[in-house]
Amino acid sequence: MDLGIAGKRALVCASSKGLGRGCAEALADAGVDLVMNARGAEALEAAAADLRARYQVNVTTVKGDITTEAGRAAVLARGPFDILVTNAGGPPPGQWSDWSREDFIKALDANMLTPIALMQAVLPGMMQRGWGRVVNITSVSVKSPIAVLGLSNSARAGLTGFVAGTSRQVAGKGVTINNLLPGIHATDRAIALDGAVVKARGISMEEAISERSATIPAGRYGTPSEFGATCAFLCSQHAGFIVGQNILLDGGATNATL
Ligand code: NAP
Repeated sequence: MDLGIAGKRALVCASSKGLGRGCAEALADAGVDLVMNARGAEALEAAAADLRARYQVNVTTVKGDITTEAGRAAVLARGPFDILVTNAGGPPPGQWSDWSREDFIKALDANMLTPIALMQAVLPGMMQRGWGRVVNITSVSVKSPIAVLGLSNSARAGLTGFVAGTSRQVAGKGVTINNLLPGIHATDRAIALDGAVVKARGISMEEAISERSATIPAGRYGTPSEFGATCAFLCSQHAGFIVGQNILLDGGATNATL
């Protein structure tokens, strides 16, 4: 399917690896020019070189922490953007009783206030030009809380509320905002969480992965490339009537009728 977005410009945050990279790759495959971002230069440059070579699109890299004001200013200076994909590392696991005010502020900064600041920066230009697509990478934890990820449950719920209200205010100008909710995907983040289980329970990595896979009706972890393909569709010309939705990509793991 031709997504109809060749030649558009996208900012894909936190995109040297994992789900962000999956989104960058699917957009590059659709002919979209990219600004890619991450803190570490090596993986970022390698990912950018790979996408340039395979898809012949323009790829600019901006090294920096997207959760800081300076990091956001550096990527936004490369605008204007037709497409924004927000993403950042997720908060660490822990226990509800242990998190301090500072822990919450850090999680809110990374997973709620950063995507909101990025949207506030790019939405006016998109509305003026009459076209725009925003996709926020959030989490299955928005629909179904994950006990050890209370910081994620909390911060992403706040972002979801902002998107629910704001998406309806910009849709009339040709701009859509939607959230993608990943369940378990085979990325460094998932491996780190499996590693914590290995350590806590003294089981092997294979056992940890197989136990978690057994909780997913699809019987496996998701892949960054199928996640990215869904993101690219949401950014396509065909998705202009999808507004303010929370799309779950979890292999059926959330046991709910709606
Ligand atoms: P990942 O494999 O660890 O990749 C994270 C990417 O983001 C890397 O490119 C990393 O590069 C970059 N990054 C992290 N923090 C950054 C920051 N502050 N500024 C700029 N770049 C940053 O993670 P992932 O699995 O793709 O997860 C992406 C998001 O989805 C996270 O918020 C995660 O909590 C959420 N999620 C993931 C899963 C899953 O199963 N994978 C499930 C639910 C939710 P640098 O380290 O070099 O900056």
